[in-house]
Formats: sequence, C-alpha cells, structure tokens
Amino acid sequence: MPRSNVLILLLVGSLLLTVATAQEPPKVIEVEQLEDNLFVLRGGGGNTAVFVTETGVVVVDSKNPGWGQPLLAEVAALTSNPITVLINTHSHHDHVSGNVAFPGTVDFVAHEITKANMEVMRAYSGRTEPPANVFADAAGHGLPTRTFRDRMSLGDGVDRVDLYHFGSGHTGGDTWVVFPSLGTLHSGDIFPGKNLPFLDANNGGSGVEIGNTLQQAHGGISNVDRIITGHSTEMTWADLNEFAAFNRGFLRAVQAGHTAGLSIEDIAAGWTMPSVYEGYLLPQIAQIEGSVRVIVEELDARGAR
Ligand SMILES: [Zn+2]
Repeated sequence: MPRSNVLILLLVGSLLLTVATAQEPPKVIEVEQLEDNLFVLRGGGGNTAVFVTETGVVVVDSKNPGWGQPLLAEVAALTSNPITVLINTHSHHDHVSGNVAFPGTVDFVAHEITKANMEVMRAYSGRTEPPANVFADAAGHGLPTRTFRDRMSLGDGVDRVDLYHFGSGHTGGDTWVVFPSLGTLHSGDIFPGKNLPFLDANNGGSGVEIGNTLQQAHGGISNVDRIITGHSTEMTWADLNEFAAFNRGFLRAVQAGHTAGLSIEDIAAGWTMPSVYEGYLLPQIAQIEGSVRVIVEELDARGAR
C-alpha cells in the first residue's frame, strides 16, 4: 500500500475515534432523595422515581435509549432489593427506552394505550421521523406485560402504589402514579413543569381535553402534596390546579382565534404568557404553533368553528 493511503487510513481512523468519543459523553444520573425510600433520578430523559418497598423496588420511567444500564446501576447503589416493577407514565422514547435493559423478572406496567403506542413507536405530532423503536430491536422485550384502563393498585399497606388514568392529555395513555404512604405522585409529562405542554395527538394526546384531564386528576386524587414532574423540579398540589387552569386558558385563547377565523400562525403569534402564571417558561414560537395546530385540527375534526 502506498504511504499516502496509509496516512489517509490513519487520519480517517483517528477521525472516527474522535467522533465516537465525542458522541459518547458520560451518562451521569443525579440522585435526589425525597424520603428514606423514595428517590428522583434525573438526567438522560424524563425524571425517574425509585420507590423502595419491603418486597422489591418500583421504578417509574426508564429514560432515553442507552440509559437503562446506568439507571439499573444507580438503583443497585441505592438498595440491594431487587427491582420488581417498572411503570411507564407514557410511551415517549425519553421515558421508556431504558426498559429493554431491565430483567425479564420485572413486571412491566403501563396504560393499555401506552402499550399500544410502545408497540409501534410512531412519529410524534409535528415530527416526521419516528423515535428509535428499541423494542423491535429487542424482539419485544421491555414492552408492558400488565396494563390497566382506569385504575389499578399494586402492593399493600405502606408499599401500595395506585395508578390512575383520567383521559387524554400529553398522549392518550398518560398515567398518574401515586405513592399514598408518602403523599407523592409522579405525573409524567402531562405535567412536565411550568410550561406549555407538548401535545402529541399522533399518540392520542389532546389539547382540547388536557385541561379537563388535569382538573380531574386534581379533583380525583386525594392526600398528595408533592408531585414529581416529567422533566422539572417537584411541584405542589396547588401548582397542579394552576397548571390545569393555564391549559384551559390556552385552549380558550386558541378557540377564540379560531372562531375569529385567524390562521394557526396568527393565533400563535398573538398569544402571550398571561402574567398571573409566575415562573412559567415562555415557549418558543414553533412550540406555540405546534400546540395551536393540534388544537385547531381537533376543533375542525369536531366541526367547531
Ligand atoms: Zn413525553
């Protein structure tokens, strides 16, 4: 082989190595302890809850592709109890993809619509590319093995976990995971934090329903004062009530613009964050347009103008 070719090969080789190293930053998981037996694990996607019970560990949400193994290692560092249950709050890749690393002895629990969504992993509203289908690559391992429709309880006494579904919102299969003995719930992305929620109509989400669904959760679940959100810090029960009102207000603004015959772009451009919502993140215009589009398409489908 001529020397120049060897040089080029070496160059390409070192370039590939650089690219590979640059693409693999260390997977750091931050642990926040809420109670003796309840933790929030942040990083690598949505917030994960770890509830340590007498009989085993209940994990809620499993993060992005490739984060299952680091998540398992972090749980093992917190407790020697085995993981017995993994609950997914909804089907998005940043909450379910780590499932494939969990052992087959685990009960994989989700809402029946979330299971159906996970079996397909279709593109989200406003996007053309579907997320990676890690379950297809794993011959279906990690898909839900137990599902529910309205309500389900797991375990007994202080170890009990209650699952609720109050209807469509962020997706069609949003689950509220309650730890009654600790007055705490994990909301997943139907309450991601104080911002405009992403509405994934392609996976059953609804901007017309989300405000009602949030309000029903607030009215239908009792004795909870702390909420582990999908992507933000912990919130209070009053924060959930405010978030429901915020979403109903957004819907009313879109309905008014739609009735007045405004375009999606004009409705979005004309919307401003109401000043009463202190600490709320101002969304980018593209995100506002995405939410307006989902709601307008729902209104049109229902024949409302
Ligand atoms: Zn989500």
